[in-house]
Amino acid sequence: MRTLVTGGAGFLGSHLCDRLLADGHEVIALDNLFTGSKRNITHLLNRPEFEFIRHDVVNPIMLEGDWIFNLACPASPIHYQSNPVKTVKTSVMGTLNMLGLAKRVKARILQASTSEVYGDPQEHPQQENYWGHVNPIGPRSCYDEGKRVAETLMSDYHLQNKVDIRIARIFNTFGPRMAIGDGRVISNFIVQALRGEKLTIYGDGSQTRCFCFVDDLIEGILSLIAYEGDDASEPVNIGSTEERSMLEIVESLGEILGRRLEIESRPLPQNDPVRRRPDTTRACQRIAWQPRVSFADGLRRTVDYFRTAIKM
Ligand code: NAD
Ligand code: UDP
Repeated sequence: MRTLVTGGAGFLGSHLCDRLLADGHEVIALDNLFTGSKRNITHLLNRPEFEFIRHDVVNPIMLEGDWIFNLACPASPIHYQSNPVKTVKTSVMGTLNMLGLAKRVKARILQASTSEVYGDPQEHPQQENYWGHVNPIGPRSCYDEGKRVAETLMSDYHLQNKVDIRIARIFNTFGPRMAIGDGRVISNFIVQALRGEKLTIYGDGSQTRCFCFVDDLIEGILSLIAYEGDDASEPVNIGSTEERSMLEIVESLGEILGRRLEIESRPLPQNDPVRRRPDTTRACQRIAWQPRVSFADGLRRTVDYFRTAIKM
């Protein structure tokens, strides 16, 4: 099997490359290194079954492959909002280019979609048939709407051109190899705590998310791409169902570090979703997937990673 991973030098992409190589795939990682880093894949660079191509997915590329994982897109709000037009282009033109490639070489393609397609949801938990509550012109729109169009393109290439698609709606995921300056909450809190800084809580800290450890997420998307049912082209939520507030995360981190952590309030960003929790019945029934790593365990492993990473 030859497998393409766009965004292969990023947080999730680099873990996916590791796992695919361990499973015996030949892997080509495409990345423009916007938020990803060669450091995430340095250990793979001299393996003959691995190839890295510095490439921006908004431009077409001619390659061959059996499977494509389309992960290229900045995922952290500070990064995707720094150049919103580019973010839309990455989701729309990038997905279009990868679908064109999939069509030409008859590859199966999995799109890394997101819980953000549900926006600031008004139904809890979010099932895949919920259409969402998304602001089309807010600061998060470039990401949310870009990913929604990417799903539309996937679905229409499937209907019109019979491209073999999978759509994973990924919920908040964390773990080793998140960038130090990534800006998402778990990496921010850990880095701030390890540096002895106050933890930045946006708003009153009562907003919730469900956090899945990276190894579980990778297992989920690998099971989804391998799934062969008649309903395989439908989106599937992949994420933890344990809802936590930001203040609860500070507490869990304090327990791991064995000290009380100080916090500092910052304004809540505009359109920041109040609550988020997936209904994962579909993942459970179709691909027999559920997370295995507890939040505390995942957090401990991520803290260990950052202890070393912040010294580098
Ligand atoms: P990340 O920022 O670490 O990885 C994204 C990778 O894509 C980076 O290596 C970046 O350099 C690359 N990239 C960005 N724009 C590109 C372009 N135009 N051309 C080529 N490469 C480009 O983020 P991540 O957390 O690893 O997210 C990976 C994918 O999963 C993204 O599509 C993201 O939307 C999706 N996702 C992640 C989460 C999460 O919690 N981690 C949740 C939902 C969805
Ligand atoms: N957040 C926070 N402090 C930070 C970074 C984020 O309180 O230093 C909050 C943010 O407002 C949001 C939640 O943490 O409510 C998750 O943010 P993240 O950027 O990790 O993911 P997303 O909002 O995309 O789910």
